[in-house]
Amino acid sequence: MKRKRITAISLGVITSMMLAVIAFAPSPAQAYVLLGCKWGTSTITYYMPTPLSVSGSFTTGAGRWAGVKATLKFGTSASYMIYGTSEIRGNTVSWTAMVRAKGTVQNPPSCPGGLFVSGAVEIAFNETAAGWSSASADRKAGAAAHEFGHALGLAHSTSSAVLMYPYYDIAPTTPQADDKNGVNSLY
Ligand SMILES: [Zn+2]
Repeated sequence: MKRKRITAISLGVITSMMLAVIAFAPSPAQAYVLLGCKWGTSTITYYMPTPLSVSGSFTTGAGRWAGVKATLKFGTSASYMIYGTSEIRGNTVSWTAMVRAKGTVQNPPSCPGGLFVSGAVEIAFNETAAGWSSASADRKAGAAAHEFGHALGLAHSTSSAVLMYPYYDIAPTTPQADDKNGVNSLY
């Protein structure tokens, strides 16, 4: 079965993050890995234009983070911190969804001083990635929740038991206790 990879940041950064996990050996009870970027406030707004094919997945995915110390709130076209979009990229990119610098194909968002910049972070979906059109609504919402995990400050986990595992067809589709602990450590 072909695995469908979702990615947050450039492969180079993922590699260094994964190496960091090995180097610093977190306690076995902890699977979450922090990105090194977060927001300077705990109320985080997102927005996507409608109609958008993934808008339902997007809002459902955001809602799955309810209960953590950061609040994801739907904003307006004039005021948002995270922008959502979807596009047709087929196999020209290796991702199904990613968090990137707004307006780029796949550059990581900058976070000077460790803080994301309002309006400069974008969650993008590749509607024509292999497997996406046939994925269940729950899997699609799970992929969106995973991307929001990145946009809150989580990197990939090597544990397939948590949302931040990089394959949305294998990972759970909702934030697990470990994912929530990661976000709660930031806000
Ligand atoms: Zn990811």
